[in-house]
Amino acid sequence: MVSPLHSDSRAELHDDKIVTSIGELAPRPDLQPELLLRLTGKLQTTLELRQLLEIFFTEIQQAVLIDGMTFHHARQELTLSQGKQSVHSISYRLQTQGDYMGDLSFQRSTRFREHELANIEGLITTLVYPVRNALRYHSAVAAAFRDPLTGAGNRAALDRTLKREIELAKRHEHQLSLLMLDLDWFKQINDQHGHSCGDRVLQQTVKCISASIRQTDMCFRYGGEEFIIVLSGACAEGAQTIAERIRQGIAGLTLSGSQGPITLSASLGCATLRGDDDKDSLLHRADEALYAAKSGGRNRVISA
Ligand code: GH3
Ligand code: MG
Ligand code: MG
Repeated sequence: MVSPLHSDSRAELHDDKIVTSIGELAPRPDLQPELLLRLTGKLQTTLELRQLLEIFFTEIQQAVLIDGMTFHHARQELTLSQGKQSVHSISYRLQTQGDYMGDLSFQRSTRFREHELANIEGLITTLVYPVRNALRYHSAVAAAFRDPLTGAGNRAALDRTLKREIELAKRHEHQLSLLMLDLDWFKQINDQHGHSCGDRVLQQTVKCISASIRQTDMCFRYGGEEFIIVLSGACAEGAQTIAERIRQGIAGLTLSGSQGPITLSASLGCATLRGDDDKDSLLHRADEALYAAKSGGRNRVISA
């Protein structure tokens, strides 16, 4: 189902106007059946949302000239744009029964006319199910790189990210730092309050880390109660400051367990990329610093 959201092109669009699946599409006088067929065929060739939208943007020009197109899906934090922004725009919501699949808007420097909007609506119907499949694929791929308990990246994601970030940092001569965090006496929390309470502590720990870092920084679950935080652009002092902020945040968490309040703390090791480092040597230095923080008494930050 494709329903118009809003238009500032002053085209006559009614809110109750709804275009349903392709089978029910009334033939449009100036929408070539070959175009519909070709488009439908091409949209079957990929599950990548970006490619799908590129194909659609290219093909739609055969029926209506548009300057730009933007796809937005708030829940999946996806915004993908083609072409360029322009003054007149028309937006549609893509949905099947109960399944919201994002909003699609078209921009142009001149107003859209009624028959052009009809053509756009006709063509969007070909996009509904391919977009639904692409979104499911996107979610599945994202889930394969996420720790299901905490939502942090998993080891596979860490491997990929670290390799890429180290390469980028070396190529562009950026700083790159890494924090290795381990919760203190976590086994005791499990033993005292139960495993499900321990799980809740892990979730709160990730929330606390995420609140202490920038959106471009990344948090990964490295093992049971061990996390890696990748800080791109951060020098050694910057990393130490962020690590200290995280340490204080975790020490300040107030959580109630089955046997009363839980006291929590974490130890952190920091390491900053050197010219001769690879992923393993950087992780190794952070691990050594973490070990020093543990043996120095825990609830502290040590830099390699
Ligand atoms: P230290 O201060 O030396 O780090 O002590 P610790 O007790 O935190 O470390 P230890 O390695 O002895 O224990 C880690 C515990 O983490 C043991 C394990 O059962 C627990 N753990 C690992 N994964 C999970 C999980 O997913 N959920 C819960 N609840 N516990 C977990
Ligand atoms: Mg621990
Ligand atoms: Mg540990």
